[in-house]
Amino acid sequence: METAAEGRGTSVTSCSECDSQDVIIKKARKSYCRPCWKHHCDFRFRKRLFEFGRPAKGTVGEVFRPAEDVLICYDGSPTSVALINLALNALVLGNIQENAGPGTNSNNLPFPFKFSIVVILESELNGSPGVEGRQKKHLQSLLNWTKHAEKSGTSQFPLFASCVEVSLKEYHSENDGSMSNKTPLVIKLTEEGILSQESEPEVQISSVNSVSLPFNESLDHHLMELRKSLKGKTEDKDFLAVSKRNLVQQIAEQLKISKVLLPEDQTSLAVKMFTMMSLGRGSQVAEEMSFTSTTENGTVYARPLIDFSDDDLRAYLETLSDESTDGMVNKSGKRKLKIDSVDRQCDDFIINLQKGYPATVSTLTRIGAKLQSGLEDVMANDAKGSSRRCKFCKRQSDTPIDAFCYGCQHFLYDAHPDKKEHFRHLFPLNASSNS
Ligand SMILES: [Zn+2]
Ligand SMILES: [Zn+2]
Repeated sequence: METAAEGRGTSVTSCSECDSQDVIIKKARKSYCRPCWKHHCDFRFRKRLFEFGRPAKGTVGEVFRPAEDVLICYDGSPTSVALINLALNALVLGNIQENAGPGTNSNNLPFPFKFSIVVILESELNGSPGVEGRQKKHLQSLLNWTKHAEKSGTSQFPLFASCVEVSLKEYHSENDGSMSNKTPLVIKLTEEGILSQESEPEVQISSVNSVSLPFNESLDHHLMELRKSLKGKTEDKDFLAVSKRNLVQQIAEQLKISKVLLPEDQTSLAVKMFTMMSLGRGSQVAEEMSFTSTTENGTVYARPLIDFSDDDLRAYLETLSDESTDGMVNKSGKRKLKIDSVDRQCDDFIINLQKGYPATVSTLTRIGAKLQSGLEDVMANDAKGSSRRCKFCKRQSDTPIDAFCYGCQHFLYDAHPDKKEHFRHLFPLNASSNS
């Protein structure tokens, strides 16, 4: 077992790979300088990507199949900034190998993925003033990043944005006349400004600065109403997390993309494991911690940063050019102050543990992915076509078919008595599942 004491001595350490003394990170028994750490991270990430792209066992994979569309979820965290840069570098390296002449050491296989990025804005989170301005700045930085990505290779990263409020749209479109039918699910950001997706009502906006967030005030109002009705900040965060994931699912379906990369690293996964357990979502931990998980509709979610802690990724960001991170991440890298919730307490707990025992988060991540819910057996015995998935969070559930899972029932219990009906109205338990 490694301890934090190791490596804090005054003796000069040098990179295990190249003997440079400009070491930026120590991992287990190895030390890395900037270029070697960048190479190490890029290599591990690519390995995970190819694992993700490999045809499923038992199917005949075509070696030269067309590149598959993959949606990258971007949430503004340093982890997600690292994720898009790792994806870009994987793509650039893939293009170099593909174009390398015969006789070179590469296998010349085409890179199997085409990436798009989706940003889900949380315009009302924490109710802090100035959020909208900061989000617009961030969107502009992301746009600049996509231009930088285009310069780095032939690659393109189409950029989409949505607001968490929009996740309520599906539930309002039938019953609530107050909803404007101009609400797009997702908008496409381009250099010229913002374009709505085809088949959605047109949104004419000339620049990032003139986009109004969220896109629809009545949805915003409904979301705030619901959130206010929840008892605690813990439930509120959980509710938002589920709403965001539901929205990602809807967007992936609209864009006809069935593979999604999540910006989750070992540290955030370990925090999630404890948080979910304390919220009564223990039986759902395994599917939320594994490298890949598949939804009922066949969308595959992958966590390609499962090999990295947030410190690893922060060190990776240090190795990148300013153009790759400008305006998106504070390189001095202070942890964000979070609202008081179980999530935050788990976060503090794990960060402190990690300081003393550097193997903490990688161990927890491995344990989490191995937890068995036992639900697979139960589901195997269910009638064909029935689903033991929660109506709201869509995760495995040990409650009767077509109901809320134990974790989501909290939302109902916690909601203010006046708001319970509102909640039921939003998420009708007897609704037929969407096809
Ligand atoms: Zn080195
Ligand atoms: Zn649920």
